[in-house]
Amino acid sequence: MTKVNQPTSAIRTNVLGYPRIGAWRELKKAEEAYWAGQKTEAELLKVGAEIRKSNWLLQKSLGIDLIPSSDFSYYDQVLDMAMTLGAVPERYAALGKNKLEQYFAMARGVQTNGNDLTAMEMTKWFDTNYHYIVPEFVRGQTFCLNDTKIIDEYAEARALGVETKPVLIGPVAFLLLGKEKDAGFDRLQLLEPILDVYAQLLHRLEQAGAKYVQIDEPHLSLDLTDSSKAAYVRAYNKLGRQTGLKIILTTYFEGLRDNLDLALSLPVDMLHVDLVRCPQQLDEVLAKLPQNMCLSLGVIDGRNIWKNDLTHTMGIVDKAVATLGADRVVIGASCSFLHVPYDLSLESDETALPASVRQWMAFARQKTEELALLKHLASGNADDEAFEAYGRNKIDISARRTSPLTHNVDVAKRVAAITPDDKHRKSAFAKRAELQHAKLHLPLFPTTTIGSFPQTAEVRGWRQKHRKGELSDAEYDRLLKQETERCIRRQEQIGLDVLVHGEFERNDMVEYFGEQLDGFAFTQNGWVQSYGSRCVKPPVIYGDVQRPHAMTVGWSRYAGQLTLKPVKGMLTGPVTILEWSFVRDDQPRSATCLQIALSVRDEVKDLEAAGIGIIQIDEPAIREGLPLRKSDWDEYLHWAVESFRIASSGVDDATQIHTHMCYSEFNDIIEHIGLMDADVITIECSRSQMELLDVFGKYKYPNEIGPGVYDIHSARVPEMKEMLGLLHKAVQHIRPEQLWVNPDCGLKTRGWAETTAALERMVQAAHEIRKEYEK
Ligand code: GLN
Ligand code: ZN
Repeated sequence: MTKVNQPTSAIRTNVLGYPRIGAWRELKKAEEAYWAGQKTEAELLKVGAEIRKSNWLLQKSLGIDLIPSSDFSYYDQVLDMAMTLGAVPERYAALGKNKLEQYFAMARGVQTNGNDLTAMEMTKWFDTNYHYIVPEFVRGQTFCLNDTKIIDEYAEARALGVETKPVLIGPVAFLLLGKEKDAGFDRLQLLEPILDVYAQLLHRLEQAGAKYVQIDEPHLSLDLTDSSKAAYVRAYNKLGRQTGLKIILTTYFEGLRDNLDLALSLPVDMLHVDLVRCPQQLDEVLAKLPQNMCLSLGVIDGRNIWKNDLTHTMGIVDKAVATLGADRVVIGASCSFLHVPYDLSLESDETALPASVRQWMAFARQKTEELALLKHLASGNADDEAFEAYGRNKIDISARRTSPLTHNVDVAKRVAAITPDDKHRKSAFAKRAELQHAKLHLPLFPTTTIGSFPQTAEVRGWRQKHRKGELSDAEYDRLLKQETERCIRRQEQIGLDVLVHGEFERNDMVEYFGEQLDGFAFTQNGWVQSYGSRCVKPPVIYGDVQRPHAMTVGWSRYAGQLTLKPVKGMLTGPVTILEWSFVRDDQPRSATCLQIALSVRDEVKDLEAAGIGIIQIDEPAIREGLPLRKSDWDEYLHWAVESFRIASSGVDDATQIHTHMCYSEFNDIIEHIGLMDADVITIECSRSQMELLDVFGKYKYPNEIGPGVYDIHSARVPEMKEMLGLLHKAVQHIRPEQLWVNPDCGLKTRGWAETTAALERMVQAAHEIRKEYEK
């Protein structure tokens, strides 16, 4: 802070949403117990109410002005909005007697007394790792105020003495998030009937006493079609300034860019912008903001776990105050805190999270405290305690900036020494393929798997005991070796051509590598909701990444010695390690990715030196890293592909590099997949019935491909004929010499019985199609 402002208490603070799974994942545990029939509905609802209460009281005690309500959810906020608007697909309507059962049936499917309904579709929430339930729309659909959750939770907070700001998914967002179930109609046609329900809801909230409502329209930061743009105008001309209720039009995850004028033309009372993702939009927003609009500055990062640089942020706040006046400025989080863990003060394991690194971090609670502190500093009414806290912040920020933990000279030197030669294989694919085939002697349509084999309760149990110290290192190692050998024998019996060691030693495909690399830390309780009751605990990349020792060579070598068949080495790729971690924000993501790539490259070379002739580098997260705006794609794809190439290009021509991706939308990025230049790519394919091979065929993808021939996400064992049928489809698009035969993804979530049966049939299908070509 450079100057003390005129004392004023007018600057307000804004929290967009709070984590809701519970500081100790109470909601997860209660829900799973409820689903298993071990808890009653009343018991579950009580846990929910306690979480809401503690979130509200905490924010109130810290002095937050705009505290969210209805940010809580038993499963997902988009599903909640669908329930509120009565957008319940017909097939679940019959279950309507108990609303909670109906709700969970939509979220998870039901298979009880005569009902057999699958869950609604789920997909990723923008570029986060959170997944929402996709609303379904049909022609002529009608809506009604079907559920009063939003009003009830406002009243619930009020009864606790907390004035809140209800949070709603906006009408345009709700439609854009969903999809049409009828052909030939546009879901935006449903806007008017939906708006009637929103108008009713706003009216009811006003009657209940609400002053503000947060309406989330994140698509305003995305590329928009003309019809979507027109929809915002229709929607907010109907909803805006109709009641005494003030609307906070809320955007996040990107800048408004070309949609700024549109957003500013809407009759709302406050605009919220994400200044963490897009700080450069501030000047234009300040210049153009209409007189009757307030501005909520999204300055505290809701997507990452680093302490805010309060001095820097004060500069932003001061600038906004100078232009708009304090009463029109609100200091906010960039987005909901849903995407960060609860409370850093619950972390106490210094071996996993060194105290010095912890000192640089902030979870939801600490970020809320930062908001409160910023308010006091900016309003010029900071007391001694506040100035002390600000002083500590300055020390922590500067410690992080200059720490030897974050900057490793060796790593910097190595990155600087990367040459163009490091980014491509010695020879082109055709030459490599010849050498690889001569060395590996694989049949036409070689069979393999994606890497993991069943992680049974027994295997997970060993790991748990080992972690608790109940199983010695030696004993743990012996058990894992035994399991690996068993896995090799099974694969030999099944008759697979290229074997894997089974990945029994891995807790998770990112964590396992992070734990062995410099620059990573881990939390004990840093859970973030992924979907429903499912949470993930991402590693924290805080410093320069370096590989102090080989990570997988021991296991691959051990497995390789057990058999005469080739055994693939198995690694997680740099982009996936990056995407599934909390990443440092003091250098570009691309720089961190490059460092990881160099570590993976070293591992690849070590595997090769240990005699492993086939090495797979999994990159399931490449597609999900795509930026939200199409104009940013090229830059991202450039460094993502380059990182993969640096990781994979250090080997001889005769060493075969595989990669694996588990999704099936390749249309947009097929050229870049080609540029990765893996010798073999295995992909998820069976659910789309090989349709995506069309893309590979049209693009004339030159290297080898293993389109998954069966879905590993269900326990169902497909018939041999089914898989053979898919292979017949595949050869219509791809030359037979290019094709591999494998499942869709890793098998770690499956049981042994179904796995063995399915793989036996898969191998048989490969034999059948081989016969057709060997005639
Ligand atoms: N090799 C990993 C496995 O088989 C790949 C997992 C993934 O693609 N998500 O488990
Ligand atoms: Zn996969």
